[in-house]
Amino acid sequence: MRGLRDVLEQAQKKGVAIGHFNVADMVLLKAVFEAARELNVPVLVGASRGERAFMGVDQIAALVRSLRGEFDFPIFLNADHTHSLPEALEAARAGFDSVVFDASALPFEQNVRQTKEAVKALKAIKPAILVEGELGDIGVGSEIHEKAPDLAKGLTDPAEAKQYVEATGIDTLAPAVGNMHGMLKSMVRGETRKHLDIARIAEIKKAARVPLTLHGGSGTDDEDLRKAIAAGISVVHINTELRVAWRRGLEEGLAQQPNEVVPYKILSSAVESVKRVARSRLRLFNGDGVTLEIVA
Ligand SMILES: [Zn+2]
Repeated sequence: MRGLRDVLEQAQKKGVAIGHFNVADMVLLKAVFEAARELNVPVLVGASRGERAFMGVDQIAALVRSLRGEFDFPIFLNADHTHSLPEALEAARAGFDSVVFDASALPFEQNVRQTKEAVKALKAIKPAILVEGELGDIGVGSEIHEKAPDLAKGLTDPAEAKQYVEATGIDTLAPAVGNMHGMLKSMVRGETRKHLDIARIAEIKKAARVPLTLHGGSGTDDEDLRKAIAAGISVVHINTELRVAWRRGLEEGLAQQPNEVVPYKILSSAVESVKRVARSRLRLFNGDGVTLEIVA
């Protein structure tokens, strides 16, 4: 079985991106895994602080490990946005394949110092683990936002990205390139899309020379995503789109079977709804160019 590092290298060579989908329950995990298996592409599952707390750090690790083992399938687990060393180490000990150490809210020097320390401590207990650092401002919360944040000030500078990668020893970098966490209401309605600074992605890639991760990919223009992947994005994070699909699928399941109490009969429409999104995103990230069909 190939490890996450090999899978990332392969993605870079092929000019495709690995889909990263956040999961908070078995519905999401099942849907993401089934979509990836149907398309036969590797997949990364992410759990943020809230998602880890809800599912249990060891429990989500055990679930992903069991899927990988039983089906001999390249599904990997990422600790999304850890903000302290103990939190990052807990995930590493539980068997997560990668950790996002997010000190991006701190000034540059402090971000470098803390991230460097985290890389060292994490690799000491698990040499194969991949550590991602974050530079710039991509907002917080994969939720539906009322209004757009001002992203212009927090964009990642390519020269700083190079300095950051070299000083910290991170394996992958999450830059701010017009992306943001969460979606605006108009994006959920399908009226607007996020747009990315493609030239900046290419410059950061050239300077930093590590795989780049695009956080906050939900609601991004399809063509921008294709160009971003061609410019050097190797992992794309999707969370809010799945959450929207999860809720809609669940509501559908409840509405269609008003007297049903059997959970798996109600939840199967949520699985289908999430799976449609995951499938369509994975197709696009892997170079097949299928348009977004879910959030209209
Ligand atoms: Zn993120």
